[in-house]
Amino acid sequence: MKGNNKSTGLLVVVSAPSGAGKTSVLSEVMRKFPDINFSVSVTTRPPREGERDGVNYFFVTDEEFEALIERDDFVEWAVVHGNRYGTLKSTVQDALDNNRTIILDTDTVGAFNIKKHFPDTVLIFIAPPSQEALRERLESRNTESRELIQKRLDAAPGEMARMAEYDYIVLNETLSNAAAQIGSIIEANN
Ligand code: 5GP
Repeated sequence: MKGNNKSTGLLVVVSAPSGAGKTSVLSEVMRKFPDINFSVSVTTRPPREGERDGVNYFFVTDEEFEALIERDDFVEWAVVHGNRYGTLKSTVQDALDNNRTIILDTDTVGAFNIKKHFPDTVLIFIAPPSQEALRERLESRNTESRELIQKRLDAAPGEMARMAEYDYIVLNETLSNAAAQIGSIIEANN
C-alpha cells in the first residue's frame, strides 16, 4: 500500500452475520494485498476442521481465557454464539507501532468497542445477498450442528440491525467484487 503518510497504522474491523462469507472474502483480500495483516483473535470455541492454532485463532480453554482477562491483555472481548472471543492489545499495538494495516474480524459488539478505543478505526460490514444465502452457506460448509446453525441464523437480524452504524457496507454477491471493494476502501483510508 502506498501513500500512507500517517505515523500510525490503520485498524480495519470487518463484521458480518455468520454465513455471509466473511472468511472467504478476507482470505481473498489477504491474498491480493500481502502487506495487510490479520489480527488473530483468542477464542474458547473448538477448532473446526482445517483451522490452525495461531493462524485462524488462538484456541484456548476457559481458564486460559480467564487468565488473559485478569492480566488485562484484551482490547475487547465478547461472548458470541455461546463462546468467548477476544482481541489482544499486543496485536493491535504492534500494528499501530509498525505503521501497518491490520484487519480485525469481530462481531458488532467488538467493532464498536474497538472504535471507542481507536476512533480512526474503519468499520466495514459484509452483508449477505439474502437471509437464504446465510442458511445455504452455513448448511453447505457442514461445520456446525443443526442447533448451532440455527443459533447463528437467529443472531443475524440483530447484527444486521447495526449495519447502518458502520462506515462502509459491502454486499457479498461475488467473492472477487467484495474483496476488491474492501481493498479499495483500505486504499482510500491509507
Ligand atoms: P466464528 O466462530 O464463526 O469464527 O466467529 C463467530 C463470531 O465471532 C464472528 O462474528 C466473529 O466476527 C466474532 N469474533 C471473532 N473474533 C472476535 C474477537 O476477537 N472479538 C469479538 N468481539 N468477536 C470476534
